[in-house]
Amino acid sequence: MKYIFVTGGVVSSLGKGIISASLARLLQSRGYRVTIQKFDPYINIDPGTLNPYEHGECYVTIDGQETDLDLGHYERFTGIRTTRANNITTGRIYQNVIERERRGDYLGHTIQVIPHITDEIKRNMLALGRTGEFDFVITEIGGTVGDIESQPFVEAIRQLRWDLPGDTVCIHLTYVPFIKAAGELKTKPTQHSVAELQSKGVQPDILVLRAERDLPAALLAKVASFCNVDRECVVLSVDMPSIYEVPLGMQQQGLDTAVLRKCGMNPADTTAKLNDWLDFLHRREHATREVRIALVGKYDLQDAYKSIRESLSHAATYNDFRARIEFVNSEHITEERVADMLSAFDGVVICPGFGQRGIEGKLVAARYCREHDVPTLGICLGMQMMVIEYARNVLGLSDASSSEMDAQTPHNVIDMMADQKNLTQLGGTMRLGGYECELKPGSHAAKAYGELHIVERHRHRYEFNSQYRAAFEEAGMQCVGENPQTGLVEVVEVPSHRWYIGVQYHPEYSSTVLRPHPLFYDFVSALKASAE
Ligand code: GLN
Repeated sequence: MKYIFVTGGVVSSLGKGIISASLARLLQSRGYRVTIQKFDPYINIDPGTLNPYEHGECYVTIDGQETDLDLGHYERFTGIRTTRANNITTGRIYQNVIERERRGDYLGHTIQVIPHITDEIKRNMLALGRTGEFDFVITEIGGTVGDIESQPFVEAIRQLRWDLPGDTVCIHLTYVPFIKAAGELKTKPTQHSVAELQSKGVQPDILVLRAERDLPAALLAKVASFCNVDRECVVLSVDMPSIYEVPLGMQQQGLDTAVLRKCGMNPADTTAKLNDWLDFLHRREHATREVRIALVGKYDLQDAYKSIRESLSHAATYNDFRARIEFVNSEHITEERVADMLSAFDGVVICPGFGQRGIEGKLVAARYCREHDVPTLGICLGMQMMVIEYARNVLGLSDASSSEMDAQTPHNVIDMMADQKNLTQLGGTMRLGGYECELKPGSHAAKAYGELHIVERHRHRYEFNSQYRAAFEEAGMQCVGENPQTGLVEVVEVPSHRWYIGVQYHPEYSSTVLRPHPLFYDFVSALKASAE
């Protein structure tokens, strides 16, 4: 059982999550059992209450934890199922310690960052390893070394290196900028960042240098000697055409072999089998024709719909198509403009979301797609908008709405779930995580899944109001997925259309590189038919 720590320096957004996920994939391909966890130094208990502009999408694990979007990369790259234990924040560390203090567990002692907070961090860092289910636990530390809030995490790593000699490896990811005016690549920020880490008592074993262009061997040798790192442990990571090429780049640069050697293992004992991964890349490279997909939402930001983008991209690859995914801001969609804004697309995804902003545009988009038979997938709020649009324009309930947007609506076709009504806290109180769903035999959704019993992840407070179910079904919108315990409607579709399906859950959380999600796959197949 070995622990690999991944820290970052110089600047954030270098892709620590992708490097961690790529390393996990490489170790897995050698037959090792691997998991990845992320420690985020911010004080929120979890990212569930964060605005997507702050931290991108909120990813949800099968056991209902709202987590950092890097966990999505971990799952997509490795196929592992992460849980609540895979994402810990400073907020949760402090919450645990303070709860213990209130219970009197510390028997009168003064509670301090060292040792109490660091002990709690260490306990969490070791928790997954102690299950005995893994050969490697990769721990990514959010933020950059030198931030005040990262210090207890770096201190915990320092202590663990001491407690577990020979069983830990430290990888530090830095950035090598190219200074245009001087025409030079600069390693000084890397040297400073390593010096910062060393000043906290942590000597990195492996350096991964992010750069926009190739570095001459002499520069890599210089970094090695300045930073007390073996030359073969300085690994270059240049920009790749896509994140899915990164595992190969890391393999060519010898990241996995460096890790194994640092763990006292012989890399020659195992060989990396990446055939299925290579097959995926090959298909991506050889897909020439494209399908154009609109993401109708309100967050004009790449990371806000990360998992949806990746799921569409996986599905397109396995359909031998290239997905051209474009964001369409629902705040700008009006009756007059909708045709101009959407007619060039083969398919439309109406995205999840919260609150009022941009919903009118989503309703207009849903109507346009329904009336023009454009293949459409509505996810969570997107499904709710499909339902409201149908109620207003087909059932004739012109004031139909969701009680989220209009608490007074007489036709609350989307209503707050009963168990949500008396909650006073926002964080972690939605319907979260995996729930079962029974699909109606013969429905489009059942055909797409190829099975009738599914489990999908949820993140919402509102639901389809079952009082209206019969009226919708009579008017042509069928409720074809239902929670077997509660009867909640999870999937709606209009069978007379080519592909018009809304899901209350989030299928995007469970698409992986090697197992594209069947609903996205089927959606893209339908688009392909129109693109051909
Ligand atoms: N705001 C809606 C609800 O809470 C939808 C949430 C979502 O799209 N994830 O039910």
